[in-house]
Amino acid sequence: MDEAGMDEVFDFVVVGSGGGSMCAGLFMRSVGKSVVILEKTELVGGSTARSGGVMWIPNNRFMAEHGVEDSFEKASAYLDATSGQSVDAPCASPERRRAYLTEAPRMVDFLVAQGVRLRRIKSWPDYYDERPGGSVPGRTVVAELFNLNELGAWARRLRPNFLQLPATLDESFVLGTFKQSWIGKAMLAKVGLRGLLARLTGKHWVTAGAALQGRMLQAALKAGVDIRLNSGVARFVVKNGAVAGAAIVRDEREHRIGARLGVLVNAGGFAHNQVMLDKYIPGASAKWTASNPGDMGEMLEALINLGAATAQLEEMVGNQMAIPPGRESQGDGVELANIGG
Ligand SMILES: Cc1cc2nc3c(=O)[nH]c(=O)nc-3n(C[C@H](O)[C@H](O)[C@H](O)COP(=O)(O)OP(=O)(O)OC[C@H]3O[C@@H](n4cnc5c(N)ncnc54)[C@H](O)[C@@H]3O)c2cc1C
Repeated sequence: MDEAGMDEVFDFVVVGSGGGSMCAGLFMRSVGKSVVILEKTELVGGSTARSGGVMWIPNNRFMAEHGVEDSFEKASAYLDATSGQSVDAPCASPERRRAYLTEAPRMVDFLVAQGVRLRRIKSWPDYYDERPGGSVPGRTVVAELFNLNELGAWARRLRPNFLQLPATLDESFVLGTFKQSWIGKAMLAKVGLRGLLARLTGKHWVTAGAALQGRMLQAALKAGVDIRLNSGVARFVVKNGAVAGAAIVRDEREHRIGARLGVLVNAGGFAHNQVMLDKYIPGASAKWTASNPGDMGEMLEALINLGAATAQLEEMVGNQMAIPPGRESQGDGVELANIGG
């Protein structure tokens, strides 16, 4: 790469600090490359940190450990039966499905080897478990609860999760039944005791996506990934027709960061951009989202302007919920997530 005109250069530049970014940064460090993650907002973690952190990983090591049957072929049959018929879904092409089924369990092995503590939820059925290859126990992998205080100075920079309890996602479902069942009451006691012990011992448990991102952030920092907050990418630096780096604005001047091997753009969607919503998903409102406030879609627009191919912009992932008047999202989405949770 031509390094002329760059203020600094890394092997690998990552835009956004969501789950894929942390994992990619960790991987590049594991093969000896220098990595910088540029995050626009003042908090690290993206929508991933706010999410359930539920990863669908067929044929994963925890299923084998627990004696739960699965195989590449079985999971492949399930994907064929759920997304195989889509003609407008290049993101789920047969090649990509194969790559996912091969690499996802390897990713889990890699993260575990990096010290990221993960586990399987024992009962989280596939969403179409009646279809060929569907799994009734499920293929869900999540992070173990994480003590935020292990992050030291970074603790207050991790984006909070919608679930503000010292409980795992599966525990929180049981917890919700405490008025109706003894199992729920026992869970309330267990989680209450854990919270009390945490207070006494100076721990601050975070759960779900925040536990996943907290654990990956911890591993990434340990591995030497350079993570910069308040560093929104304003544009890509293009040389000889190829993206050679990314430019941020620092101290009111453009700061160019070169990438010897490549730029990974992992900057979320456009749930907070009403203009883009009107264009691609008419009728949807930016007030309805629980995604992180950085989800403005400007990187998507910048890539489209560079001629990038896109697909399925008019589709969205969401769930139905009722929002009482006056309790719409104020931009951070926590309120909305709590109502939907
Ligand atoms: C409440 C909730 C629950 C969910 N639960 C699940 C679940 O359990 N399982 C599941 O699979 N999915 C779930 N999802 C969806 C999932 O969280 C997202 O699809 C996923 O986290 C997106 O990851 P990402 O790395 O692409 O982006 P993100 O995690 O959103 O990260 C993108 C980051 O890029 C930053 N950024 C944006 N523009 C720029 C710029 N110009 N320069 C620098 N940085 C920029 C943003 O600020 C953000 O921090 C959930 C989503 C929500 C909102």
